[in-house]
Amino acid sequence: MQEQLLLLARAMLQANHVIVFTGAGVSTESGIPDFRGRSGIWQDDDAVRLLSLDTLYGDPQLFYSRGIAFLETLRGKEPNPAHMAIARLEDMGVVRAVITQNIDGLHQAAGSKQVIEIHGNLRTCYCMGCKHTISFEGTKEQVAQGVVPPECPECGGLVRPSVVFFEDQMTEDFSRAMDQAQMADFALVVGSSLQVAPAAYLPAMVPSMGIVNLESTPYDGRAVAAIHDKAGVVLPRLVEAVEDLRR
Ligand code: NAD
Repeated sequence: MQEQLLLLARAMLQANHVIVFTGAGVSTESGIPDFRGRSGIWQDDDAVRLLSLDTLYGDPQLFYSRGIAFLETLRGKEPNPAHMAIARLEDMGVVRAVITQNIDGLHQAAGSKQVIEIHGNLRTCYCMGCKHTISFEGTKEQVAQGVVPPECPECGGLVRPSVVFFEDQMTEDFSRAMDQAQMADFALVVGSSLQVAPAAYLPAMVPSMGIVNLESTPYDGRAVAAIHDKAGVVLPRLVEAVEDLRR
């Protein structure tokens, strides 16, 4: 692995604009299961069906009982050594921005500052009518008091989590992520199967990339190096390799 780490570290130091692109795999070591990984919950059709616009509109009772309970399992976790290492790379001036598919907020918890959450977040909910934003906690409280679906305090409209579901349009953050991908000359992809479109197109826009993922991805052949190991093991070693090269 050491040789591949050196290749990655060199490529990152030689690049002008490095972005990190993360998927669910960066958070599995924080105790949040991924969808497509070996122990993923993709097979659990229930989770996919629950977190859909169909369920939100067609069966709000189900969405706001089991769906919210499911989202709740992704909250309140601690960042792991991979998140910490990515934040450190930004501190060191090596990484410009982190584009994440995750909604767990763990990059910010680790100290990353430039974080673009292309699939939304679990901090807030918003009104589908007037776009007023309320906290996820506030929505949970309404649901706990039996107000289902929860109501916008401004206009009484339907309130939903600020999370991008499978049939949803991409958000403004996706355009910001596209801008970053256009500016970047190196993308470090961590814990992503690179199979979820259109998110997976972002690193593909960048001329050079490195990959850290437990399993192989369709882009491994294009990468300067593709390391198939745990992000929480590889990323701290990558920071060390960058520090060694800088000495
Ligand atoms: P994904 O397609 O990006 O797959 C995750 C990849 O991470 C898999 O290839 C797996 O082999 C790899 N992986 C797992 N543990 C790893 C580790 N410790 N180190 C390195 N690689 C590891 O993502 P998905 O699981 O198919 O999820 C699809 C979408 O669902 C995500 O893009 C995200 O929006 C959402 N999701 C978010 C969270 C979260 O916020 N933590 C969790 C699950 C799903």
